[in-house]
Amino acid sequence: MKKKYLFIFIICYGIVFVCSAFAYHNKILHPIIDDKGHLLPIAVKSIKTATGEKELQQIVKDAKQSNDKLSIAGMQHSQGGQTLYPNAIIIDMKKYNKILHFDQKKKTITVQSGATWDDVQRYINPYGLAVKVMQSQNIFTIGGSLSVNVHGRDIRNDALIDTIHSFHLMNAKGEIINVSRTENKELFPYIIGGYGLFGIILDVTLQLTDDHLYVTNAKLIDYKNYRNYFEKEVIGNPKVEMHLARISVAPNSFLREMYVTDYILADNQEERAKYNHLKEDRMIGLPKFFLGLSRYSDWGKNAFWDIQKYYTNRMNGKLETRNNVMRSESAFMEYTSETRTEILQEYFVPTTEFSNYIDDLRAVLQKENMNLLNITIRYVSKNNHSVMSYSKENMFALVLLINQGKSKKDIQTTEEVVQKMIDVTLKHNGSYYLPYYSYPSKKQLLEAYPRSTEFFNMKREYDPEERFVNLFYEEYGK
Ligand SMILES: Cc1cc2nc3c(=O)[nH]c(=O)nc-3n(C[C@H](O)[C@H](O)[C@H](O)COP(=O)(O)OP(=O)(O)OC[C@H]3O[C@@H](n4cnc5c(N)ncnc54)[C@H](O)[C@@H]3O)c2cc1C
Repeated sequence: MKKKYLFIFIICYGIVFVCSAFAYHNKILHPIIDDKGHLLPIAVKSIKTATGEKELQQIVKDAKQSNDKLSIAGMQHSQGGQTLYPNAIIIDMKKYNKILHFDQKKKTITVQSGATWDDVQRYINPYGLAVKVMQSQNIFTIGGSLSVNVHGRDIRNDALIDTIHSFHLMNAKGEIINVSRTENKELFPYIIGGYGLFGIILDVTLQLTDDHLYVTNAKLIDYKNYRNYFEKEVIGNPKVEMHLARISVAPNSFLREMYVTDYILADNQEERAKYNHLKEDRMIGLPKFFLGLSRYSDWGKNAFWDIQKYYTNRMNGKLETRNNVMRSESAFMEYTSETRTEILQEYFVPTTEFSNYIDDLRAVLQKENMNLLNITIRYVSKNNHSVMSYSKENMFALVLLINQGKSKKDIQTTEEVVQKMIDVTLKHNGSYYLPYYSYPSKKQLLEAYPRSTEFFNMKREYDPEERFVNLFYEEYGK
């Protein structure tokens, strides 16, 4: 009898051991990763890092040999699998991050593409220089930023693409080529805004500008007056160089109340040095607390909006350098939950359409049950230099922060609302931004990006073996 139990025990133990070893082996061999949207955990073949071109070349050549797919990852703040593909080799670019060359006189810098804007700012700030175009925050890599062709608070320089002198690209054959407006120029408008589908962007030479001192002007306005205000007081005033606005998502003033923040060249530029100490994420506790409240109740949303208004009002007259305006707080937005996540959407609408668009958007959202936490607004001027350009005209860009569940049903519910919002945006001759979750339909992509067929055809022409892929390509490119 005893022997029988011992035998059963050994068999069970053996099964548990084999299963654990298999799971461990699988996890090691096929790590599961996701991006910051947290809706797409995916098993990949491996994650490789590199600090130099030789290692990157080896990764690309080996993948060709073994016929593996490659996806490129920066900070992975894109949210629709733009850095992911099942069973692919993920090239993590973060360690490829040296500053290679800096020319103070010409105001240019050459950096490896895994460097972040923070790395660049820390390097150039002591020389009185600043980045021309980047996101509002500085946590992103240069490669990830080029690949989506970002925009930010600057209203005088167009899109990032216009601030790039040149870059080296490692293509699917492992060759390194220089790409600029004169060399391999046909590739330039495809790779910037090209979502990592043409190869690895290596080092990048960027045009910089002077780090100015700004005085902040903050004001509460009604959404109906925003366009006029912007045209007269913001774009119409050459001393305003940067701008940001917010529109209320609080039930008491939903999509009606706005406050604007303008950054106006200060008269006393010689005092810039007094203010050029780079700010760090400081004010985490209070905004995190109120953002937290706004997740769970209408009361919380009203309180969050009131506190934002109060805080903005206090900023009036504050002096701040360009470098500091371009490193706004992000840590307070961090959010972890087993069942929920926070995603972004961004819609571009011609400035001339703004108030009618807001009325239509409000009409859609008032019928839906979407947990909308915040909307910021920026300006992008007309620019078609990238094939996947989102700014067909001078546009306002609305960035929506949404709290949603991770379940299949929640994803489907969000998809329905997002598609309705995009329909409204397209009706107003707008477009939407591509680094986010693949909620938009293929038809909507074609309407927002009329050159997308040409873009995907060029990808296949340049990379016929489809070595560089990701879920964005899988969803829309085939
Ligand atoms: C909180 C938040 C705020 C944001 N604010 C703004 C904003 O103000 N303005 C704005 O324009 N966008 C904004 N975004 C979007 C953001 O700019 C993009 O998601 C950007 O791609 C993030 O950079 P990353 O380093 O995380 O890139 P990743 O997400 O890692 O990569 C993005 C794309 O670039 C490709 N890629 C990365 N590195 C390379 C490389 N070296 N060579 C070739 N391809 C590469 C990837 O394959 C992928 O397709 C915001 C996003 C978040 C989450």
